[in-house]
This record gives sequence, structure tokens and C-alpha cells, in this order.
Amino acid sequence: MSEHIIPTSSAAQDALAGANEVAGGSPKVNLLGLSEAKLSDFFASLNEPKFRAVQVLKWIHQLGADNFEDMTNVSKSLRAKLSAVAEIRPPEVVKQLDSADGTRKFLIRVSGNNVVETVFIPDGDRGTLCVSSQVGCSLDCSFCATGKQGFNRDLTAAEIIGQVWIAAKSFGQLTMNGPRAVTNVVMMGMGEPLLNFDNVVDSMNLMMHDNAYGLSKRRVTLSTSGVVPQLDRLSQFTDACLAISLHAPNDELRNELVPINRKYPIAMLLDSATRYIQSMPDTHRKITIEYTLIDQVNDRPHHAHELAELLRDVPVKINLIPFNPFNLSNYKRASNNAIRKFQDILMEAGYITTVRTTRGDDIDAACGQLAGSVNDITKRSERHRARFDEAQPIKILN
Ligand code: SAH
Ligand code: SF4
Repeated sequence: MSEHIIPTSSAAQDALAGANEVAGGSPKVNLLGLSEAKLSDFFASLNEPKFRAVQVLKWIHQLGADNFEDMTNVSKSLRAKLSAVAEIRPPEVVKQLDSADGTRKFLIRVSGNNVVETVFIPDGDRGTLCVSSQVGCSLDCSFCATGKQGFNRDLTAAEIIGQVWIAAKSFGQLTMNGPRAVTNVVMMGMGEPLLNFDNVVDSMNLMMHDNAYGLSKRRVTLSTSGVVPQLDRLSQFTDACLAISLHAPNDELRNELVPINRKYPIAMLLDSATRYIQSMPDTHRKITIEYTLIDQVNDRPHHAHELAELLRDVPVKINLIPFNPFNLSNYKRASNNAIRKFQDILMEAGYITTVRTTRGDDIDAACGQLAGSVNDITKRSERHRARFDEAQPIKILN
């Protein structure tokens, strides 16, 4: 393992990476997190034509620019104007850890002592980036290190897409149509993406935008533990892939492992996920079911049979995740035997079933093991959850 300590900058100490103060006290707009539509509005507010948004989008996301001086196809006077009112400010990387197997982890300071984690996992031609959406998480799943840390705040769109920007740039000089290290993104880092809906949607759409990262919709995946009202809205805003953190074949067990299940039980969640997939124009899409295997808790053959039965009419593929143990948990990872048996039962029942291999063990870099450092703000978890409950009453489906 090698470790790079990257010096901290004072700008990155700001609580909100989306806005920074300039000398006169007016906020500079951070263009890093703006969707193409928002960037077009920004240029319209400067009486500049829309094509400027495309130019600047390419500079930021395809060439990794962090200042306007580099933008040689933008006039000098516009560059000066932009420098006065705007900035391109990624979040601050405090540490980069490189594993012997090529996995790379970034510790990213988002405010005060709060640190979120981003992990890059290479696998042949594929390079998957596991991106965080919140500082901590309010949903408190019993087997999750992030959940045990409590919740601090949502990441801004600049902090979310900034993780992709940082990872892409860490692999060297970028050229417009050159090879890319990051070929896939999964929203499986810290936080529940659907509880930070607008910023996550804007960021995922930048990942897929031809003038930004240009990833295909089959290479960007949102993972959710099941915030059904938000999932019901998702297809209006994006067509990325969907993964559901199921982890149990019945409500009784899932209520224990994933407490949000008490509000939005399995049947409701699977209905909503199926509607999302079916609203996509391309057929043959499948929901990825994530199932973390915990010794003696949910890894018995009868759980596998029950899961096979539960998913009978749902278009799914299944990804089994060996539980990653952490300090504050008494759970144990399922044995290799139990994992193999579980997989066999599902495959015999006709499901495409993969087992997630553990990578970056020497730097604790497995997705689902990202802990960072989170200052929980008392009651903030409850307030955050309540905000969404009020905004989106539960729909009861037949
Ligand atoms: N909040 C979202 C996305 C982040 S968690 C969600 O829950 O889906 C990403 C995945 O890692 C989820 O499937 C989650 O259940 C899993 N996970 C969390 N803690 C884990 C652990 N200790 N071991 C294995 N998987 C874990
Ligand atoms: Fe939050 Fe996902 Fe962890 Fe549950 S598994 S606490 S939803 S990050």
C-alpha cells in the first residue's frame, strides 16, 4: 500500500463547497456541480450564448480544468469575467491510498472534520468508481459502518461529481477523446442517494452527458435501501441503472437489518423498482439485487429458497456481497461454504447470481465499508428523514 498526503487548502474548509466568498462578499458560483441546463442559465445571466455552456462543460469534465485561464477557446475578456464571478472548485482530497491490487481510495474533506470516501476499483478493462452521496447516513442499517456514524449533511452536486473529477484526474493528463480510467460509476459509497435526490440526479446526469463524462446509462448505477417515494419519481429525471439493497427475503428480517423497511416494505419497494425499470425504453433491463451475506443471520439455505420465490416475477440479477466486518458490529461474514451454497441455490432457480469479490483489503476500500469520519449532528438524522416523509406521502399500491 502506498499513501499520498495531499496538503489541505483553506478554501476547502468551507462548510458548503457550492459557494465561496469573494472580496466584496458576494458568492462565487462553483461551476463544477452545474448541469448543462444550469450552466446555460448561468451564461444566459451573463448575456452569453448557450454554446459557452458546452465549451466550459468540456473543459471542466473532459479536460479536468480547474481555472478559466486554460480555456483557450474562450475569449480573454470572458475568461476575466468568469474569474470574477465563478470558480471551479473540487472538494479537497486529504489522502489518497493505493492498494497493491490497483484499488485506489480517496479521503475527501467536505467540511470541518468530516471526511467522505471514494473508491476506484480496476477490473480488466473496467474501472468502477464507488461514489458517496452524503456525509454519513440517517437510515441506520444494522450492518453498515456508514449508518453507525450517524448523519451530518447532504453532499452538494459539486462534491458528488467532484469525486469523479478527482478520480479521473488522478490517473494523469486528460485529453478530449483519450482513454478514461473511470468507465463505471456506482452510487454505493457513503449515504443514501435518494435522500439527496436533486444533487444526485444532477451529478448522475453529468456522468452520462456526452459533453461531460459520457458514460452510458448501463454504466452508472444508483443503489438504494428503498426510499420508495423518491424511487417513484426517479424515472422522470434519469435512466441510470438501479440496484436495490434487499439483504433479506422477508419483511420480518429486513425490518431488523434495514429499518426503512418498516415504512416501505419489500412488496412496495419491488413494485416501485419494477415500475422504474419498465419505464425505460430499452427492454431486457434488470434490477440488481444487492444481498449482503451475514453469518447465521440471512445466509441459510432456507433464506436463499425464500429469496428465489420472492423474486420469481421481478426482472433481476443478484449480487451477493460477503459482509465486511467493522469494529462497531457483532455480525460475522458468511463462510465461503455458505456463500457458495447460497449462490448455487439461486442459480439453480434460474437467477444470474454473482458474488462481489473483495478488493483493496489493505486499505479498507470495499464498497459498503466506507466509513470516513462523520460528526453526527444531534437530531439531524430524524429531521432529514422527516423532510422527505412530509414532502412525499406514501403511495399505497394495489
Ligand atoms: N445507501 C445506499 C448506497 C450505499 S451502501 C444503499 O444502502 O443501497 C452500498 C451497498 O453496501 C449497499 O448494498 C449496502 O447495503 C452495502 N453494505 C453496507 N454495509 C456493508 C457491510 N458492512 N458489508 C457489506 N455490504 C455492506
Ligand atoms: Fe445508509 Fe445504505 Fe448504510 Fe443503510 S446501507 S445505513 S442506507 S449507507
